[in-house]
Amino acid sequence: MEFKPKWIALEVTRRCNLNCIHCRSHSEMSTNGHPDLSTKEVLRIIDELIDYSNPVIVLSGGEPLLRDDIFEIAGYATQKGARLSIATNGTLVTDEVCKNIKKTGVKIISLSLDGSTADIHDNFRNQKGAFEGVVNATRLFREHGIEFIINSSFTKRNQHDIPKVYRLAKELGATAWYMFMVVPTGRGEDLLRELISKEDYEDILGWHYQMEKEERDLLVRPACAAHYYRVVLQKSKEEGLKFERRSFKFSTGGAKGCVVGQIISFIDVDGNVLPCSYFPKAAGNLKERSFKDIWENSELFQELRDPKKHRGKCGSCEYNNICGGCRARAYSINGDYLDEDPFCNYVPLKYRRTLHVS
Ligand code: SF4
Ligand code: SF4
Repeated sequence: MEFKPKWIALEVTRRCNLNCIHCRSHSEMSTNGHPDLSTKEVLRIIDELIDYSNPVIVLSGGEPLLRDDIFEIAGYATQKGARLSIATNGTLVTDEVCKNIKKTGVKIISLSLDGSTADIHDNFRNQKGAFEGVVNATRLFREHGIEFIINSSFTKRNQHDIPKVYRLAKELGATAWYMFMVVPTGRGEDLLRELISKEDYEDILGWHYQMEKEERDLLVRPACAAHYYRVVLQKSKEEGLKFERRSFKFSTGGAKGCVVGQIISFIDVDGNVLPCSYFPKAAGNLKERSFKDIWENSELFQELRDPKKHRGKCGSCEYNNICGGCRARAYSINGDYLDEDPFCNYVPLKYRRTLHVS
């Protein structure tokens, strides 16, 4: 089977004006003496990606709108035929920014919203006024006719707010809402005690399934919840339903759980190519090797593409082909990216027989 990237996030800056508790990139306003990729380097990477497989490219950070050349980069990429998105925390969105988004042909914006009230969101983002910034950004996007996705991250501190955040995303006019349970990397390592338990995770995925069944307007997806594909199969089978997932026309949604190294990847601000933004192990660096070489030949990507290499429960699981477990969670909690996903509480049939449990 041939694996080609269809969706790549490119971290264009390590700087950020917020200080979020779960941030993978330890972002802050200064680069601390480690400069971001130069304009020339970013454009060269974009050329490589377009030439190789023309994936959807997400310009991410840090906060990408802090880069003075962000719309030079965006315009260059879209002129060369890229389908482009920008991921922002929303606080720097202005009329001028919206005009540039339209002018450069960016397809969609990803915004972060982690609470249905200023108290909850600002607490999570560690910044007073952050909530107001996102809500204001959605108003500007509506006025300018710019489509946006709302990404929401959850830990124990805001999990109670999930249904309200979903309803708010809808009210604010989002095209899609992606619910995300924080993966402990970056500042997230300090969050171990705050991570949603696997029992609650299962219940939340059950809630998402019921909600997705009814939802007709918003595109919804629990991001990086590989075992949602198992939950959907189990529940739809129980209910005798044919459950069809919807996804964007301009990008191919993953038809299975974790697709690291299969159709997605992440390039950090130092040029490292990683499986995804929550998987802190590089397969290679673009200052030394081409993207094609890293994607096709690195041992890390080759291992991640082979579900037969999975260990523990995932290795024995009858759902492994459609789920695969979150490799980043296995890496951060178990120290082994091929081990079982520690946030899935399913016990595979084969495993039950081995353990003699029913
Ligand atoms: S490894 Fe985990 S965080 Fe990364 S893409 Fe897969 S499910 Fe998402
Ligand atoms: S045991 Fe692993 S493969 Fe099976 S459903 Fe859970 S995460 Fe997925």
